[in-house]
Amino acid sequence: MKIRLAADLQSDSIVDGEGIRTVIWTQGCPHHCKGCHNSETWDFDDGALIDITEIEEKIDNLKAQDGITFSGGDPMCQPEACSMIAKYAKKKNLNIWCYTGYTYEQLMILSKSNNNIMEFLKNIDVLVDGKFEIELKSDKALFRGSTNQRIIDVQKSLYNNEICLIDKYIIKDETEILNRDKYMYI
Ligand code: SF4
Repeated sequence: MKIRLAADLQSDSIVDGEGIRTVIWTQGCPHHCKGCHNSETWDFDDGALIDITEIEEKIDNLKAQDGITFSGGDPMCQPEACSMIAKYAKKKNLNIWCYTGYTYEQLMILSKSNNNIMEFLKNIDVLVDGKFEIELKSDKALFRGSTNQRIIDVQKSLYNNEICLIDKYIIKDETEILNRDKYMYI
């Protein structure tokens, strides 16, 4: 099984989730958000195809990392390969964050026709969901680009069958609440 990546694994990140993390930059994104900082990751034919055994070897050699973050690109466009890597990393006691341009609700719908998406979700601890909305860009949005994006406890959400946000990352701001409601029913 291969995965298409935009870049090599990047260790020691402190901005792509909680703690010290290694980021896996997937290649290919269908969302094309206005103001995206990673537009070179949009093309599904660009980047490099890497065997996931190579990624696993790199994971074996990581030092002092709290977790793995899937970013891109949209990792949900390669759910089978990402799911295998996430499972492997979890066995090594690394926690998993994932950024996606899809909303959680959209992923629930997509997972009905693509079981790999649910399999991937089952191995994600924290999901940062939704497109980057340049009009909602805010410095208050820790670990996110814009305030519509939510930081979701995935396992709790799957168990309860409803979106469970991680309390400490909820921005107590009316604008965010209004915009979160707007995205709730897409
Ligand atoms: S989802 Fe992320 S990578 Fe894709 S266009 Fe939006 S900001 Fe860029």
